[in-house]
Amino acid sequence: MHEAPAIIILGPGSLTTAQRIQQCYPASTIHGLNGRVEGADAYYQAFGDTLRALYQQGRPIIALCAAGIVIRSLASLLGEKGEEPAVLAVAEDGSAVVPLLGGLSGVNVMAREIGEALGVAAAITTSGELRFGTCLLNPPEGYALADLDQGKRFVSDLLAGEAVRIEGDAPWLQQAQLPASDSAQRTIHVGCDARPSHRDELLIHRRSLVVAVADAGPELLAQVRSALRDAGLAEQALACLLADEALMAEPSLHEAAAALGVGLRFAPVPCGLASMLAESLPEATLVEQAGIVIAVAPSPVDVTQVGRRRGRLAVIGLGPGAADLMVPAVKAELARAEDVLGYETYVRMAGPFRDDQVLHCTDNREEMQRARHAFELAAQGRSVVVVSSGDPGVFAMAAAVLEALHGSDDPAWHRVDLEILPGVSASLATAAQAGAPLGHDFCVMSLSDNLKPWSVIEHRLDLAAQADLVLAFYNPISRSRPWQLGRAIEIVRQHRGGSTPVVLGRDIGRPGQTLKVVSLAELVPEMVDMRTMVLLGSSTTCQFPRADGTQWVYTPRWYPTAG
Ligand code: SAH
Repeated sequence: MHEAPAIIILGPGSLTTAQRIQQCYPASTIHGLNGRVEGADAYYQAFGDTLRALYQQGRPIIALCAAGIVIRSLASLLGEKGEEPAVLAVAEDGSAVVPLLGGLSGVNVMAREIGEALGVAAAITTSGELRFGTCLLNPPEGYALADLDQGKRFVSDLLAGEAVRIEGDAPWLQQAQLPASDSAQRTIHVGCDARPSHRDELLIHRRSLVVAVADAGPELLAQVRSALRDAGLAEQALACLLADEALMAEPSLHEAAAALGVGLRFAPVPCGLASMLAESLPEATLVEQAGIVIAVAPSPVDVTQVGRRRGRLAVIGLGPGAADLMVPAVKAELARAEDVLGYETYVRMAGPFRDDQVLHCTDNREEMQRARHAFELAAQGRSVVVVSSGDPGVFAMAAAVLEALHGSDDPAWHRVDLEILPGVSASLATAAQAGAPLGHDFCVMSLSDNLKPWSVIEHRLDLAAQADLVLAFYNPISRSRPWQLGRAIEIVRQHRGGSTPVVLGRDIGRPGQTLKVVSLAELVPEMVDMRTMVLLGSSTTCQFPRADGTQWVYTPRWYPTAG
């Protein structure tokens, strides 16, 4: 199972069962029907759409409802070919576990795991599995079936009464009730050698090869493939690629690993590839082929024991606060994070977190220190997230993180897999609620003079107001900056009429949010605090009443021609 399962519930009565299932899969998330359930990790509006979206993303689905509802919801997608995630229906009270789809994605294994957690027997209906006590087509982790269609024929031959012989080491088949016979025609072959496909043979690759490469380059993938071929080893038996950590950011290395369908691991190479492999895999035999060393281990390789992975640092934007305004890429990043850094309020907003995730909450002013700490963690191979509210690139952590990297000469920091994931910024969230005040050219400014001189702010304000741009003010006022907003309003009034609409959005997307529309003549600093976004209209910004008694504010896309 690669993706974390989604546990879907329809009502509060299923929450306890859902939480017991969640214990089996710590990375899983509980999705509750909006308005009906509290205490879930995420909320959805429409059951069918949600189920279909998860299915299409390949997420394993555990739905706490009638099997019929799940079948009906997914029916339109079942004709399509492609990889099928595990789909299970579980009775709300945990009294029944029914694997429905995804036999090759381990649905029966999951059904047994969940059954065990809930103290009930899983409703297994797969004939091969019932007869032999295991799904031959879905070998355990560390093993891979060579050919599915051939495998299906092989299993039906066994179900029809053929006997079988096992070649190689298959510890998980020892408990299976296979029709074994030393003189059988049919064989299950477990190994890492390259073999031609054979009708009477079920070929299972043992993922026990590690390929170590000294250099990267456009020929890398072809070189790895030919080294394996020359050694008579199967590509599907590859567990991972191992490379010098100096090559961590090399695109050709990442492309080769993706093409081979394996992970990448790294190690320092002070005394050669062979000794690096010998140290990680003492029981393996080594084969050297023109700059490439292949380690052949006697059992599946636990890749976490081979070198370490490339660390990742994602600077994410949570959006204004509401969970449904957070982009899906950010949600996925939070789910994979091992360390989460940020100002405490935002870290709390990004939760809930699992027990295995480490939270590093700091004061809002310690941004450079936080950025450096994030790189230290990511350079050790950890998966790190730095949180900002809104968008991380708008008066927030993304620039601080890049500044820290720019100022560092530590190669390990520069090799980190750094990504900035955007969010809905407060000005955009506020504008959307008011209508479209940013519908024409606008200027975004922070009124904080903590990191820039006030004279620069005044100068820019004056020019932007003169240019008739709509103005969006972040950080408009605070206890330590009490007079600045009043001065800013004075400057703008020199260029704009008193009837200009001003939108004040406070705690937008958060509990207790308020949205007010006042005129520039009415605007006083007392209406604004540090949790407010100020959108100050241009000469063309206008307003009209909406049916609910409040106002729509918008700035038309056109501009009057001069003269
Ligand atoms: N990166 C954030 C902005 C950080 S600066 C973003 O893109 O939204 C902090 C300022 O943003 C606050 O002083 C306030 O002016 C504004 N702000 C942030 N969240 C807000 C919200 N939910 N409602 C209104 N204003 C908000």
